Amino acid sequence: MEDIAGKTFDVVIVGSGPAGLTAALYAARADLNPLVFEGPEPGGQLMTTTDVENFPGYPEGVMGPKMMQDFREQATRFGADCRYGFVSDIDFSKRPYKITVDEKTELYANAIIASTGASAKWLHLESEQKLRGKGVSACATCDGAFFRDQHVVVVGGGDTAMEEATFLTKFASKVTVVHRRDELRASKAMQTRAFNNDKIEFMWDSELIEVLGEKVVDGVKTKNSNTGEVTELDDVTGVFVAIGHKPNTDLFKGVVEMDDVGYIKTKGQSTETDLPGLFACGDAMDAVYRQAVTAAGTGCKAALDAERYLGELESEEAIAESHWK
Ligand code: NAP
Repeated sequence: MEDIAGKTFDVVIVGSGPAGLTAALYAARADLNPLVFEGPEPGGQLMTTTDVENFPGYPEGVMGPKMMQDFREQATRFGADCRYGFVSDIDFSKRPYKITVDEKTELYANAIIASTGASAKWLHLESEQKLRGKGVSACATCDGAFFRDQHVVVVGGGDTAMEEATFLTKFASKVTVVHRRDELRASKAMQTRAFNNDKIEFMWDSELIEVLGEKVVDGVKTKNSNTGEVTELDDVTGVFVAIGHKPNTDLFKGVVEMDDVGYIKTKGQSTETDLPGLFACGDAMDAVYRQAVTAAGTGCKAALDAERYLGELESEEAIAESHWK
């Protein structure tokens, strides 16, 4: 990192999922020499996904890690500098903003793109973590099609859980929603849709306590919180954990406007935040779509917005300089 310490960059991108690497590609092609810090999970959530079948341009599908390698290669081909590194602090009090990487290297940026993504919340059961990507998933859109004519479980009672359960009925023969209370948190419309779907069953007041299986999921155990009764569903082959997502935006807390959950707010259709020079894209600002392709789309927008901002900054500085002379 010594080669970059103390230097000022036009664009620094924080995070390296589809949003960050698309921003890097566009910024690199605009000759902005972007510097990308890949963060604690280089490549983002797709690194823990197996087949991706819904990203356009891959007619045969692609493995998540391979796709992210392709994204990275395409961005670096045009000069993006992608590095391992965790942005530990940003001083937003004056421009250029001071960025601290891995708690030691300091550098400066005229524009920053926040593409820090989000992480699915997990139940933190040992068996759940062991079988992630082997039948346990947090994304029905990504993995639902692998469970054709099978019995799957969805954990959660919010809009995501209802949406996932309803979507899964396109493929699965049966979807059992396991919810810890006796009423749903989901909106009435989503509840009605789920209640009216013959393939969806509900296990109320129930917790998922174990995912069964060695190499792949071959059952689950649930426990009723009123009676303590343990039930084994031994024909279940898929488990979708839908208990919410957490945007990875702690770095920007207190400096930029966010919603209650921590998603960064952007202005209108742009990726501009309320802090000049800070742009947000991908799952760090999108609580609704959360797809690789939509993240890539907002990454493109962030680079274009940053480019425009830097152009304006340059003309302001040129004007100020000419007045000074
Ligand atoms: P959410 O509304 O926070 O719901 C999370 C659900 O998971 C709740 O039912 C909660 O149970 C349960 N849960 C949380 N932690 C758990 C644990 N450790 N063990 C078992 N269950 C647990 O999250 P979300 O459904 O992802 O929705 C997030 C936001 O996105 C919401 O504002 C939602 O409206 C929005 N959203 C909108 C759409 C749409 O409009 N199409 C789709 C998806 C999401 P309790 O109910 O007991 O707390």
